[in-house]
Amino acid sequence: MTATTKLYYQFPKAVKFRSTVLGCEQTEKGYLITLAETLFYPEGGGQPCDLGTIGGVEITEVHEREGVIFHTASDSIEVGTSVEGEIDGHRRRDLTQQHSGEHILSGIICARHGLNNVGFHIGADAVTIDFDGELTEEELSEAENIANEAIWQDFEPEIFFPDPKELVQLEYRSKKELTGEVRIVRFGEYDTCACCGTHVEHTGEIGMVKILGAEHYKKGQRIELVCGERALREFAKRNAELKRSAAMLSAKPSELTARLTTALAERDETKRRLSSALDRLWDAKAAEVELESDVVLVEDGLTMDDARRLSMAVAKRARAVAVVSPTQTGILCTIASETVDVRAVGKAIFAEFNGHGGGNAKLVSGNLSGDKQVVKAFILSELRKI
Ligand SMILES: [Zn+2]
Repeated sequence: MTATTKLYYQFPKAVKFRSTVLGCEQTEKGYLITLAETLFYPEGGGQPCDLGTIGGVEITEVHEREGVIFHTASDSIEVGTSVEGEIDGHRRRDLTQQHSGEHILSGIICARHGLNNVGFHIGADAVTIDFDGELTEEELSEAENIANEAIWQDFEPEIFFPDPKELVQLEYRSKKELTGEVRIVRFGEYDTCACCGTHVEHTGEIGMVKILGAEHYKKGQRIELVCGERALREFAKRNAELKRSAAMLSAKPSELTARLTTALAERDETKRRLSSALDRLWDAKAAEVELESDVVLVEDGLTMDDARRLSMAVAKRARAVAVVSPTQTGILCTIASETVDVRAVGKAIFAEFNGHGGGNAKLVSGNLSGDKQVVKAFILSELRKI
């Protein structure tokens, strides 16, 4: 099969082209269209394929095999016809910005820290690079600054095909062993890399590169980044979020951390005071409980926290105590004692009433299902066994 002429290398910014249909083969996924020449970049080198239309028919996938580019189309196109093709230019520009920004950043990190880019992925939202080692936040920030300086210098990257002798002399990054003609992309002093992707004609077109985060990944680090229009969109999204959060605290975005620190301190103090008030409340409630050796209280509408506090308060005076409280979905139950181990009772109850829960020797709690009076009678009989 004749190799397809790759117009995307000759005309990196073009979105429309004309060509002749050389083949149309029906497959399970759709029709595989081959053309004499194409602007459609096939998936490869971490860069997703172009999308668009050929002769008005939608193209959903593009891949290359032995120099031939196959366009997966939703309908058939007659072989021999001359057709107009159009790629989604916005998508191409976005992918080119991410891909070119990745070159510069990876080249800088490789040169300064000796780390290799071992995985690159452009997703619908996130763009990630995996490195075979880890950098600190300061080192990443420094690499990001240098990358942006390179972008704003607005220089032209070079693309060339060295002969085998020159290639041996050349220092360049490559993800795999290469055979045949090697396409080298050089971004000035910042990066030299073997690559088949689409690149900006001037680095200024990348706009900017912003690292959003880094996490430990496999034996190295995964970095999330955005370039170009994605960086602007991400800033707009985060800025709107920041303004919404600040408005909730009646603060300016710049005051958010200080205001949040105060609000959290107030919350902690309120929690402490509430906890102390609840202890006093349940101690008072516990004082009203008529004491027997073992007590099972049935109280409607308690939260698990209420039930725990009440059972621990009563346990100061009784040998063992259980609190049973019906909820919307079943029954919650706590069992407490300061003198005997209540875990076996808990286990028996959860097994009998299809429940689940846990705790320690002094306090067990959980949820179960059943009739509250039947549960009460069962717990009393179980408590008598310990
Ligand atoms: Zn590239």
